[in-house]
Amino acid sequence: MNPIQHLVVIGTGLIGGSVSLALKRAGVVKRVTGVGRSRENLVLAQQLGVVDSWTHDVAEAVSDADVVLLSVPMSAYESVFSSMADHLPARCVVTDAGSTKQSAVAAAKKFLPHPERFIAAHPIAGTEQSGAAAAFAELFDHRLCIITPEFDSDADALELVKQMWEQTGSSIEVMDASQHDEFLASVSHLPHLAAFALVNAVAKQATAEQDPFQFAAGGFRDFTRIASSSPEMWRDISLCNRAALLHQIELFQAELNGLRDALVAGDENRLFNEFSAARDARENWLAGHGEDL
Ligand code: NAP
Repeated sequence: MNPIQHLVVIGTGLIGGSVSLALKRAGVVKRVTGVGRSRENLVLAQQLGVVDSWTHDVAEAVSDADVVLLSVPMSAYESVFSSMADHLPARCVVTDAGSTKQSAVAAAKKFLPHPERFIAAHPIAGTEQSGAAAAFAELFDHRLCIITPEFDSDADALELVKQMWEQTGSSIEVMDASQHDEFLASVSHLPHLAAFALVNAVAKQATAEQDPFQFAAGGFRDFTRIASSSPEMWRDISLCNRAALLHQIELFQAELNGLRDALVAGDENRLFNEFSAARDARENWLAGHGEDL
């Protein structure tokens, strides 16, 4: 791809910072400006070479941008889009990394003068760490990036955004924003809710005399790793994908109810069959592509 002359990364945290580092590694970006609220994170981002310069001012930053990447919590989209709306150059292409896509597209349509030049994206990669210090160039290598164009998306903008995410090391999958939100509710958003709920359920049983965490081992740590994720980010994702997440919670509750019924009835066959089915499904997924993650 032709190098991006000026990339503006609004939200220079784990994801925004990693996109910048990955594009610098690929040699396809000339200059990166970081935008954020806290001075400390932006100074660190510049010291670490994540961005070349920074500002708190969205309007100033985007005024000569070729590409703008939003990598802020979902609740910040409307205010960030509204701050940039009157200052985006006509040529500028906007993309994002947010975890819910229908809400991202809706915010772009509400605030941007040319929403057809906003191409929504979601890299399926991350860690439970936050901020510029957590960013690294390899984060997207061999990972998927889902792109969710609208029927009226600008063809050139779509092509540029595909190429940009490919240059981060990702493979591209294109789908509808609604399909994305349903899939991600099942394999990402529900697991985060379940991890938060499980840790809280255990924590609420702790007393001065007895602390169940003392006896937790590797299994508990693996299952709950994602409960260390940013509460702000996950509050926003949950609310932005509320309908799909509520649907997935119902399906999960039905599974738990089935296991509870089997326990109440002492139904050893049902328990064995449910556990076997889950193990087989997980092994199949691992043999397919989960092993590389
Ligand atoms: P992060 O490390 O916390 O970075 C978010 C950045 O946004 C921070 O540097 C924060 O800096 C800045 N920010 C917050 N509100 C802002 C505002 N109103 N204006 C400007 N900057 C603002 O979070 P992240 O993990 O990179 O997540 C960023 C986005 O990527 C989210 O939408 C998330 O859903 C999505 N995502 C995350 C993952 C993951 O695993 N972490 C994976 C895929 C996609 P200040 O607080 O200093 O402003």
